[in-house]
Order: sequence, then structure tokens, then C-alpha cells
Amino acid sequence: MMPFSYERAVDASDAVRRATGTAKYLGGGTNLVDLMRETIERPDKLVDVTGLSAEIVEDDDGGLVIGAAARNTAVAENRLVRTRYPMLARAIMAGASAQIRNMATVGGNILQRTRCTYFYDDDGSRCNKRVPGQGCDAIEGFHRIHAILGASPSCVATHPSDMAVALVALDARVHLCGRDGERSLPLTEFYQPPGDRPDIETVLKPGELITRITLPPSALAARSEYRKVRDRASYAFALVSVGAALSVENGRIADVRLALGGVAHKPWRAFKAEQALRGQHATAEAFAAATAAELAEARPLKNNAFKVELLSRTIVATLSKLAGDLA
Ligand SMILES: Cc1cc2nc3c(=O)[nH]c(=O)nc-3n(C[C@H](O)[C@H](O)[C@H](O)COP(=O)(O)OP(=O)(O)OC[C@H]3O[C@@H](n4cnc5c(N)ncnc54)[C@H](O)[C@@H]3O)c2cc1C
Ligand code: SF4
Repeated sequence: MMPFSYERAVDASDAVRRATGTAKYLGGGTNLVDLMRETIERPDKLVDVTGLSAEIVEDDDGGLVIGAAARNTAVAENRLVRTRYPMLARAIMAGASAQIRNMATVGGNILQRTRCTYFYDDDGSRCNKRVPGQGCDAIEGFHRIHAILGASPSCVATHPSDMAVALVALDARVHLCGRDGERSLPLTEFYQPPGDRPDIETVLKPGELITRITLPPSALAARSEYRKVRDRASYAFALVSVGAALSVENGRIADVRLALGGVAHKPWRAFKAEQALRGQHATAEAFAAATAAELAEARPLKNNAFKVELLSRTIVATLSKLAGDLA
């Protein structure tokens, strides 16, 4: 581990003021501190933001505000989350362990870095995300857990967060505070495609802080589901995951939200499948056809072609379960 200083911010503007040079914000530290131990992250200063807003409250418009310092467990156990956005509670509970969820914050979860093993191996592996321009050993190496959607010739890593998949499906907005003031944007627009600079993962500017997440009110979200497929029943990242919400009127799909995890550099909102589903009869055949439309652009690698079939089946099963519950 490299030497670094530690400071604790009292509010958002204080945090931004303190975040100079190579400083990083410190949430629960469950990802950042691991990366610092491996010297993959080398901040000269940690600005602790766990004392900032951790509120989980109803918004003026009937939606939800979640402070970036809210612990993952607090979000998953919140009554409003469990009743109005059950997919979010289930996604969080499907991740990590109780101890990690107790420490991890919403801001840190969204910004956790990939679990590509070559990214962590800075002794012998080449990785464009760790050292831009170095090359990518995953592409010709062992890439069973890697991306099938949205990858580039420079990087095929996936985003590992379960929570972010649910947030993307639920039309979350991310609110930021930086040196130029405050702004907010949809979480779907927060992550950058890998392109030839996979080390640039989001639209965050230097020193910019995530202050909160907001979710719009949604009758649809109350009937939502999160399904995760992994190698072990617990304490494992998703091979594939699906966050879905569905409403059916007179046998036809009135509205739908669908997001996919474990398959791309970002939580993947399945806009094409959603478009194909609206107005269709809520049948397994319609779910399969919409999935095929979404996955037409899937580009699996040698070791992870199984993800296409696994993901297709998981989407159809998740939507069928929701449709069955509504019948
Ligand atoms: C063994 C293990 C198993 C796991 N399994 C899963 C799993 O199955 N599913 C899953 O989703 N996750 C899993 N995780 C990952 C875990 O969810 C993340 O480590 C955690 O959510 C990160 O949150 P944190 O608050 O600890 O972030 P930190 O480690 O504190 O920070 C992560 C990053 O976010 C930045 N940051 C933090 N807060 C802010 C802010 N407010 N504004 C701007 N930047 C900020 C930091 O600077 C850092 O770059 C696992 C982790 C471990 C160690
Ligand atoms: S897939 Fe991305 S993170 Fe993994 S080695 Fe290649 S460049 Fe690095």
C-alpha cells in the first residue's frame, strides 16, 4: 500500500473542496481499500464521505431519494424500498455478504470496479483499464465471466454491481456535486463505453461527488423482480442477472422495464426488448422474441458463449414469473 492522508468531509461542498490531486472519496472502503492494498488504486488522499447524507426518504413527487452514503443494508431493509421497489431490495440482498452490505455505500457500489482477474493481477498481466495502451490479456485468455454486450477491442470487462442493475431498470437519476456546481443525469448515461480508453468508466469529472440517487414514482416498480445466476448460491458475482418490472392489461403488456447484469461494462438497460414487448401478449414466445431482438448484437467470446443462452432463459423465466403473478 502507498502512503496516503485521510480526511473526513462534513458536507458535499467540503468533500469537493478537499478532493484535490489524486484524492479518492472513501465510502465503505470494501472495494477501494482492496485495490489500494494491491497498489492498483494509488490515491494520495482519502476523503471520507460516509458522514454525508444517508437519508432514504420519499421525494416531493412521490419517488424516492437515497443519499449516496446510505449503506446497502439500510436500502435493502427500508420499508419504502421493499414495498415500492422490491427489485432493488432483492438485487442488494443477492450481492456480497451481510458484513460487506453493512459497510458498502450506495455511491461506492455504483462505482465499484470490475472483477476481471487480469485487472487485479498487476504483476504479470496486461490490462488497458489498469495501464492504458498496455493491451488486454483477457481477450485471448480466460474470459468466462466477461462481457457479451458493448465490449470493445480494448476491454471486455463487466460491471459487477447487482444494485446498479436494479437502479438502471428503475429509471434512477444520479445527482453529482463538483467544482462547477451540481448536475444530475439518468444512470443509463453515467457509464462510458470502453472504447479505446476503458480506464475512463463514467462521466464523472475530477473531484466530482455522487450526492444521491433519485427514483421516480412508479406503479410498475411495485411488481418487479431481480434474478441472479452465479456459480455459487452466495458470495459470488453474477454470471448473468435480470432486473424486470411488468404490467399487463387485458393479457397484453402495458409497460415493462428490463435491465441486465454480468454481461456488459455497465448495467445494461434492454431498451430494444422493452420496445418489442410493449403491446404484445404476455407469453413466453413474446418474451423470447424480445430477448432475441436485444441479444442480436451480442458478441460472445470463446469461453462465454454460454452466457447468451443463460441470459435468454433467465430473461424469459423472470418475465414469465412476473406475468404469472399478475394473471
Ligand atoms: C468478497 C466480495 C464479494 C462481493 N460480492 C458482490 C456481489 O455479489 N454483488 C455486488 O454488487 N457487489 C459485490 N461486492 C462489491 C461490493 O458491493 C462493493 O465493494 C461495495 O458496494 C462498494 O461500496 P463501498 O462503499 O465500500 O465503496 P468504496 O470501496 O468505498 O469505493 C468504491 C469507489 O467509489 C468511490 N466513491 C465512493 N463513494 C463515492 C461518492 N459518494 N462519490 C464519488 N465516488 C465515490 C470511491 O472513491 C471508489 O472509487 C463484493 C465485494 C467483496 C469484497
Ligand atoms: S478485460 Fe478490461 S479489465 Fe480485463 S484485462 Fe482486459 S482491459 Fe483489463
